[in-house]
This record gives sequence, structure tokens and C-alpha cells, in this order.
Amino acid sequence: MSTSTLEAPSKPRADKAHWAHLWDEVITGGLCTGCAGCVVACPHDVLGYDDKLGVYKPFHLEAEDGPGGCGHGERGCTSCTRACPRFRAWETEIDTHMFKRQRHDDEVAGISKDIILARASDKYILDKGQDGGLVSAMLIFALEKGYIDGALVSYLEGDGSTWKAIPGVARTKEEVIAAAGSRYTYSANTMAYAEAVGLGLEKLALVGMSCMSSVPSVMTARKAGKPARKFALNIGLLCSKTFDDAIFEELFEAKYGLKKADMVKMNIKGVFQIWMKDGSYHEVNLKECHAWTRQGCLTCPDFAAEHADISTGGIGAFTDWTLTIVRTDIGRKLIIEMLEAGVIEARPGDDDPGAIELMRKLSIVSRRRWPQSVNFTEPRLGIPPPKPKAPAPDVVAPVD
Ligand SMILES: Cc1cc2nc3c(=O)[nH]c(=O)nc-3n(C[C@H](O)[C@H](O)[C@H](O)COP(=O)(O)OP(=O)(O)OC[C@H]3O[C@@H](n4cnc5c(N)ncnc54)[C@H](O)[C@@H]3O)c2cc1C
Ligand code: SF4
Ligand code: SF4
Repeated sequence: MSTSTLEAPSKPRADKAHWAHLWDEVITGGLCTGCAGCVVACPHDVLGYDDKLGVYKPFHLEAEDGPGGCGHGERGCTSCTRACPRFRAWETEIDTHMFKRQRHDDEVAGISKDIILARASDKYILDKGQDGGLVSAMLIFALEKGYIDGALVSYLEGDGSTWKAIPGVARTKEEVIAAAGSRYTYSANTMAYAEAVGLGLEKLALVGMSCMSSVPSVMTARKAGKPARKFALNIGLLCSKTFDDAIFEELFEAKYGLKKADMVKMNIKGVFQIWMKDGSYHEVNLKECHAWTRQGCLTCPDFAAEHADISTGGIGAFTDWTLTIVRTDIGRKLIIEMLEAGVIEARPGDDDPGAIELMRKLSIVSRRRWPQSVNFTEPRLGIPPPKPKAPAPDVVAPVD
């Protein structure tokens, strides 16, 4: 019996799919966030990562089979698709593995146990942190108590004057504090995994944007090999986008004369806030920044770091507090121990209902970005149907 040559080849089952399918469905299919999960998981070290301006994408190091070919994949290696938090039905698979159930329609910001506001008790850590310094306080505590022996974080390269965010390993309080604060360009902190392993570290924390914070969980859910076993703590940062590095020259300097070498701090609170060495403060309208949105963010449906142990953000009425979404048992255990040890202070999330509502709204906005053309519909769950449009006056049926 012969099959029609016009029949489209069927996609392989998810657990049989490899680099060629990742290349077609995710990387060139417009879903790739640049999280580098595939690169970290590759047991044959044939995937590289391009972190040049605006690229932030994986690529195959062996050119003979073309960019979408992989001899190891043809021979049965599936590690890269197993480690990819945008491949096939990733959201449902991770939810089911992590929380033993699928999420309800109203859980647009992911499944959680508690939502609180928290901040470091130590004034120095609080000052160094972007919001409440909760992330840094947690890493320091987890290092001191032996929950982790290293953390994959983000530093600024060199003396910081280029504002290029780069992944790195923190093993001490000083290194954690050196990495504190937010940079609004991309840093694939997962890529510091190799350095951490080279240093002999076994229990790692990952700090990463929402997209990255699904990497340890998808690796565990799909049994992607060794790296999954080394991630002991997963801290996510709420995120609606990161910007291309070119925004510094092409917008901040070209239009406002703000040179990156003279910047000391930045934040996003409704506007892009920039503090300069000369003590001046500047605001740039976020609408102006949109043109520099990183390509990898355009289809990302995850605002609230939905698969982290603890997700953290800066939205809300209170500056200097971190909005803290506790999702797992280890996350809750750590927060309770830190409270008992007095290293953080906390208040109920109900103190700022507006922050929680805003998180829900921003989660819906992000979920709407997941392309409708993708077969797997899960990230559309919970999105309210579009409001019916009022008919335009010229199409209202004429009254006789
Ligand atoms: C690019 C970006 C976008 C964000 N967008 C939002 C948002 O829309 N809404 C919201 O509520 N919160 C957002 N956040 C989270 C917020 O800015 C804080 O990171 C969070 O509230 C934790 O604050 P903290 O004081 O507890 O953390 P800190 O103690 O300051 O620690 C922050 C940690 O984040 C790491 N980090 C900094 N920059 C990056 C980066 N570019 N990539 C990866 N890791 C990094 C640092 O290495 C450090 O370990 C964003 C963060 C970033 C980095
Ligand atoms: S989303 Fe992440 S894991 Fe998936 S292909 Fe892109 S870089 Fe690799
Ligand atoms: S919006 Fe944030 S979480 Fe999503 S891909 Fe971009 S950097 Fe990652």
C-alpha cells in the first residue's frame, strides 16, 4: 500500500522529537524566548548560544546538517526538546508535574500557595535590592543554611559602564549583593550552569525571568537529564518584556543624551526611570521603548514566572517591598524559616489588592500574546473572550 506524496508528514510524538523539531516549531517558529534550557541540557555539547545584541538564540555548532539538523537527534537524543519550556504542551505538563493538577481558568498568574509582600530586614541588602531585596536576602539565607551552594544570577560585565547584563555564579553574600538590582536587557542566567558545574557546585538556585524559571521545572517534568537534579531552588522575576541592548544608544542616548556609562540605576514603574551619576533623574515613556522589545518576548505568555518556587515582582503601591508569590513547599519552607530567623519582614498580600489585580491583568495581557496558530491552546486558558464591539454608526441597520 502506498501513501500519497501530498500528505503532510505527521509530527513525531513529543517524547521522540529532537533538535530538528525544536528548530522548526520553536526557534524559527517564533516561540523561542532565548532561555537557553536546550543548550544547558544538551549532553553532546553541540548547541551554542548567541547572546550578541538582540539575538539571544541557540544554534547548532555542527554545520554539516544545516542549522536545523542534528545527527545525535537522528540517533535518538531528545534532551533539547525535553528541556524547552515552549515546546508543545509545556504549560500543562509542568503544571501537572509540579502541582499534581491542571490550573483553573482563574489562575492566569499560575498556581500559588501564598501571596505576600516581603523585604530584607538588613537595610544594606534592602538598599541594594531592586524592590525589597527579597531575592538577595533569600539567596544569602539559602547559601548560609546549605539549601544551595551557588546561585545562577546576572551581573554587569566589566566595570558596569556598558550595562551589558551577563550570567554568572554567586557563592558568597558579597557576590549575591554584587548581582542585586534589575537590568532590563536579557541575561540567560541558565548559561552560568557550566561555570557552576566547573566549580563543583551541586545545589543551585536559578534566578531568572519568567521564561527561564520554567526551565528547571520542564527539565524535571520531562526527565531531561542531569541538570534538572542540580536545581534546588527556582526564583522567578515577574516580566512582561526585556529590551534589546541597542535601546541604550538608539533611544536613551540618541534622543535624550543619556549615556549608559553615566547611568547608575534604572527601574520600571509605569515609566522607564533612569538615575545618572550627576544626581539627575529622568523618565522615558514606556510607549517610546516598545520598538526595542526583544524579539523573544513578543509571543511570551508568562508574566508571573508561573513555574518558579517563588516569583517576585515590583508592582504595587509600596516601593521597597517585593511582591512575593509562593508556589511550592520548598518556597514556603524558606519564607517561614527566614521570617523566624528575622532576616525578612512580611505583610499580607491583601495589604495591596491593587498589586494582585494588576498582576492578573498583566498575566492576561501576556497570555494573549501566545499565537493562536499554535496547536497547543493551554496558555490561552483563562483569557476572557474579547468584549463584543459596539456596531459602528454607519453599519447600524437603517430604520424605515
Ligand atoms: C528584565 C526585568 C523585567 C522585570 N519586569 C517586571 C515587571 O514587569 N513587573 C514586576 O512586578 N516586576 C518585574 N521585574 C522584577 C523586579 O524588577 C525585581 O527583580 C523583583 O521585584 C525582585 O526584587 P528584589 O529587590 O527582591 O530583588 P534583588 O534582591 O534586587 O535581586 C534581583 C535578582 O535579579 C537578577 N537579575 C537582575 N537583572 C536580571 C536580568 N536582566 N536577567 C536575569 N536576572 C536578573 C539579579 O542578578 C538578582 O539576583 C523585572 C525584573 C527584570 C530583571
Ligand atoms: S525557548 Fe529556550 S529551550 Fe526552547 S529553543 Fe528557545 S532557548 Fe532553547
Ligand atoms: S517577556 Fe520576559 S519572561 Fe517572557 S520571554 Fe521576554 S524576558 Fe522572558
